[in-house]
Amino acid sequence: TTHPDELAGLTGLFTDQERQIALSVRALCAAEVEPHIGRWFEDGAPDDPRGLMRSLGSLGVLGMHLEGYGCGGMTATEYGVACLELEACDSGLRSMVSVQGSLAMFAIWRWASEAEKQRWLPGMAAGEVVGCFGLTEPDHGSDPAAMRTRARRDGADWVIDGRKMWITNGSVADVAVIWAQTDDGIRGFAVPTETPGFTANTIKHKMSLRASVTSELVLDGVRVPESAAFPEVRGLRGPLSCLSEARYGIVWGAMGSARTAIECAQRYAVEREQFGRPIGGFQLTQQKLADMSLEYVKGILLALHLGRLKDATGLRPEQVSLGKLNNVREAIEICRTARTILGANGISLEYPVIRHANNLESVLTYEGTVEMHTLILGQKLTGQDAFR
Ligand code: FAD
Repeated sequence: TTHPDELAGLTGLFTDQERQIALSVRALCAAEVEPHIGRWFEDGAPDDPRGLMRSLGSLGVLGMHLEGYGCGGMTATEYGVACLELEACDSGLRSMVSVQGSLAMFAIWRWASEAEKQRWLPGMAAGEVVGCFGLTEPDHGSDPAAMRTRARRDGADWVIDGRKMWITNGSVADVAVIWAQTDDGIRGFAVPTETPGFTANTIKHKMSLRASVTSELVLDGVRVPESAAFPEVRGLRGPLSCLSEARYGIVWGAMGSARTAIECAQRYAVEREQFGRPIGGFQLTQQKLADMSLEYVKGILLALHLGRLKDATGLRPEQVSLGKLNNVREAIEICRTARTILGANGISLEYPVIRHANNLESVLTYEGTVEMHTLILGQKLTGQDAFR
């Protein structure tokens, strides 16, 4: 059998350094995650999320595309390659790194005061300090501008009240980036989670992204000093700048899930026999594998194009939307098709395919739903805003 990467000659498109990063991330996944991931998915959380974060910190992938403060200073494409390898293992693992590096660390790195950057970033890059990012609320997801969480001034301090929902790593975090309404519009705050009035409740009964901790945050009179507030940024520009970073990582990551599903289905198709021959010998199976591989190769080329463009000139939000929409939509389709090739084994956690397919249900929704990214593209293509 030929791997789709080889079939399309993809490997030659990457630099030595990019290939090296892929290998080292793969090695960590093979040693510390793959042997346990099926069970973590079943249990609904990794055994030791904080220990896992420290391992990821030692590997250097937390905030790896940020400069200074103990961060890696690597290229966007190198970061993308790491996301691909992490998600080839599990979307929950990639989410852990995205939320830490692209949401929580990026928010602080881009918007917090110098003192706050010094306070949080080195520990976060090392994985000793865990961050989360609270934008979504129970009643406000796709339309965060309508959020109800509010911060009001009280003397020299700020007091924050509200609730955040579906917050990755909320119950394990040391610091929560919280977005709240103020008299000046939406502002961001770096809130130590030990502050009185801050509680995090783990969300149970998820059927997707089970090897990742997801939480509800309750802020009840949470008092923080002025220094916790991000000094300059006002409005949705703040959180959206962070989401653009994380969405970019998903463009790559989703293709990791797709790759794992294809590799598994390919192996299965040549080993599994029915009617006296390998199921890979039937034209219908070959068509599935051919279509899956085509979309995978196109998805990698799109991710690489966006990565090189981000490194050269930066990306506009709609370019990130284009990649996130296409690659997550195609990746989930690839995983679902791979699942059919595995027959009944396709629904078992003994194989990675159903886990990836289920995980991608979350990836399809978070960081802007498929519908939102479609409307962003539609808005650019027509000049007409169809959001409201
Ligand atoms: P809604 O906004 O209620 O949307 C429901 C449906 O309506 C969707 O299909 C949507 O596309 C559609 N819809 C809404 N408005 C329109 C419109 N104008 N036109 C057409 N269709 C529309 N959030 C964080 O802040 N931090 C996190 O760390 C985080 N982690 C997450 C982890 C997981 C596992 C999950 C599942 C979610 C996470 N989220 C996080 C939340 C996620 O970003 C939101 O779920 C997402 O933005 C969608 O919001 P919603 O669920 O409220 O859906």
